[in-house]
Amino acid sequence: MTRFEITFLGTTAMVPTPKRNHPSIYVRYVSAGEKCFLLDCGEGTQRQIISLGLNFMRIDRIFITHWHADHFLGLLGLVSTMTIEKRKRPLYVYAPEAEKFVPQFLSIGYAARKFKVIPVDVPYEGNEKTTIFEDDELKVESVPVKHGIPAVAYAIVEKDRVKIDHEKASELGLPKKSPIFKRIKKFGKAVYKGIEVNLTDISYVERGKKISYSGDTMPCSNMVELAKNSDILIHESTYFEEFERYHTTFEQALGIAEKANVKKLIVTHISRRYQDDNELRKIIKSHKTSFDVDLAVDGMKLVLE
Ligand SMILES: [Zn+2]
Ligand SMILES: [Zn+2]
Repeated sequence: MTRFEITFLGTTAMVPTPKRNHPSIYVRYVSAGEKCFLLDCGEGTQRQIISLGLNFMRIDRIFITHWHADHFLGLLGLVSTMTIEKRKRPLYVYAPEAEKFVPQFLSIGYAARKFKVIPVDVPYEGNEKTTIFEDDELKVESVPVKHGIPAVAYAIVEKDRVKIDHEKASELGLPKKSPIFKRIKKFGKAVYKGIEVNLTDISYVERGKKISYSGDTMPCSNMVELAKNSDILIHESTYFEEFERYHTTFEQALGIAEKANVKKLIVTHISRRYQDDNELRKIIKSHKTSFDVDLAVDGMKLVLE
């Protein structure tokens, strides 16, 4: 059983409020091991990580959606604390124009950094979905979005997992536990006591989980494509009433979630003009949807199993 743990470190738009920190989301993927990512890294991110009992040294990849200060100002502080804590592992920073901006912020001040910060450029033009990171369990996809400056959205996608159906396996005479299962998984088949066993005969596919995150954007079709069939779509909803350029309203976020056929929508990047979360929850509840909808607040944690 694998799981994602998603913790909202900051949920405001542009200006922090007493309750909402600048945008950042900590994503921990737990399988046999663990992998930790950050989606955006606004000012105050490292303090939020510490306050919420998370581990910043485990973060290996940071995905920045765009270079507006509310989404990246925490990078310098976080990297500097990693330096103090004697980090050795490289840290990857993905972003549109990462190779341009990451060396710039690293050049500020004096630091005896002993680890590499590796910028990875993410395409920000056109309509193509790009896989920007992939390993044996996960991939991270990106698409360009519409925010008036180079900006992208990300999806963290768990690959489908082939699982052994032990009932079927025992019907074929296989024991409950045996190294044979590793061999069958690796080679697609193996011989057990003279009988050839095919993986397809004793397995099923567990669909991978998917989380998508819009960053800042107007409603756009690229976002719908990226978010298709997500278990959780985290979408900006800067405003709850009138439309303003470069951002999305709550009703528009609902439209994106509907078109993308997601299971759950979390709205975040909330303008400081809304100080009363209960009012926002009332608005959310007043809409009938075929999927769950919730309001992100700082410190909120979701587990996706
Ligand atoms: Zn923003
Ligand atoms: Zn922005």
